[in-house]
Amino acid sequence: TAAHVAAVEKARALNAYVLETPEHAAEMAKASDARIAKGEAGPLEGIPLAVKDMFCTAGVRTTACSHILDNFVPTYESTVTSQLWRDGAVMLGKTNNDEFAMGSANETSYFGPVHSPWRRKGSNTPLTPGGSSGGSAAAVAAQLCLGATGTDTGGSIRQPAAFTGTVGIKPTYGRVSRWGIVAFASSLDQAGPFAKTVRDAAILTRSMTGHDPKDSTCVDLPVPDYEAAVGRSVKGLRIGIPKEYRLDGMPAEIEKIWEQGRAWLKAAGAELVDVSLPHTKYALPAYYIVAPAEASSNLARYDGVRYGLRVPGKDITDLYEQTRAEGFGAEVRRRVMIGTYVLSAGYYDAYYLRAQKLRTLIKRDFEACFEAGVHAMLTPATPSAAFGLGEKGGADPVEMYLNDVFTVTVNMAGLPGIAVPAGLDSQGLPLGLQLIGRPFDEETLFALGEVIE
Ligand code: GLN
Repeated sequence: TAAHVAAVEKARALNAYVLETPEHAAEMAKASDARIAKGEAGPLEGIPLAVKDMFCTAGVRTTACSHILDNFVPTYESTVTSQLWRDGAVMLGKTNNDEFAMGSANETSYFGPVHSPWRRKGSNTPLTPGGSSGGSAAAVAAQLCLGATGTDTGGSIRQPAAFTGTVGIKPTYGRVSRWGIVAFASSLDQAGPFAKTVRDAAILTRSMTGHDPKDSTCVDLPVPDYEAAVGRSVKGLRIGIPKEYRLDGMPAEIEKIWEQGRAWLKAAGAELVDVSLPHTKYALPAYYIVAPAEASSNLARYDGVRYGLRVPGKDITDLYEQTRAEGFGAEVRRRVMIGTYVLSAGYYDAYYLRAQKLRTLIKRDFEACFEAGVHAMLTPATPSAAFGLGEKGGADPVEMYLNDVFTVTVNMAGLPGIAVPAGLDSQGLPLGLQLIGRPFDEETLFALGEVIE
């Protein structure tokens, strides 16, 4: 713990942490030592972790990296983090993310962007660690913790994992409790870990998972020993290769790493099958209706009365307006406006309802493949390697949204997805592959991920 606390201080230039909690870390490490001395060590005893600032932490500032949650200190602990502490883990601090987890480059954070510890060969251009969980990904990649928590609504664990050469898994929707996590789009949000290896990710997932009566969408299923799945044979598993993920204009290096992944799985005894997910092309547009719609509703609670920032007004309505105008950044305001629009009486059927129907079709595409005997799918995690900070999405937000083409389908269908580092491109940057599993079959993803890693 002490070594990590020192490393975090030294690496402040990366802006990975928005809050360091060395006193908490010292106290937790001491308690951990005491448990070890008594022979009562938990499965994560003494492991220093970083927590995305979307998770409420009791007595520790939680802002979702938004100005509107300035100095908000929750009185409660999220279920996920309390389970990690229950198992002995130690908190190093809170990590940076896109404001309310809306973004793919960690550039919408009120605290400014995170710098990836990676650089292109022979270049000093600062690169994005991805987003929205950019701080967690960078912290794991730069050895500023042994693991970190993330949330993934449309790719926010898997895309930053791919950009930083770390492992990130979004479990099946309902596997992990959302209680105490700042809500973005409730029907898509799911928490998961970042780790250096598939095995570490499996160990962390086990601690984060489990039924929680405080989240009605959290399923009551036994928690498997995910670590036992790491190293399990993948012989005879049928791996779908969805043809719709072969995009026009996709960089040759992405195509190459995908091919490499197929070869590794084949060599390990898996069977590769070409599959079709015909509604894939609707996933991104439908996601960018459903997610803002839910966000506009979830963010209605930030009114200047209950939490964080309050900008005084001449009456209560003025106070709401002033607070929200000042407290939300540009991307969040854009999403609230889109969401309010697509849910409004005259447009609900044309946009929101239609997007929900597409969502069902996207889900059915996957179901049809799984019913036909496919155990998991292999796809690229991202359409490119990490890009430079400020390089994308300036004038055109859609350019940034396109980053999520391979990941949003998984959230729309509620399936588990893991991003695993698969190699480096010619510029020396990490590339990740994504494995998509059957509902609640994270174990197969850990087994397959271990082969790729
Ligand atoms: N980049 C996507 C978005 O901006 C996904 C974010 C996320 O998964 N939280 O909505």
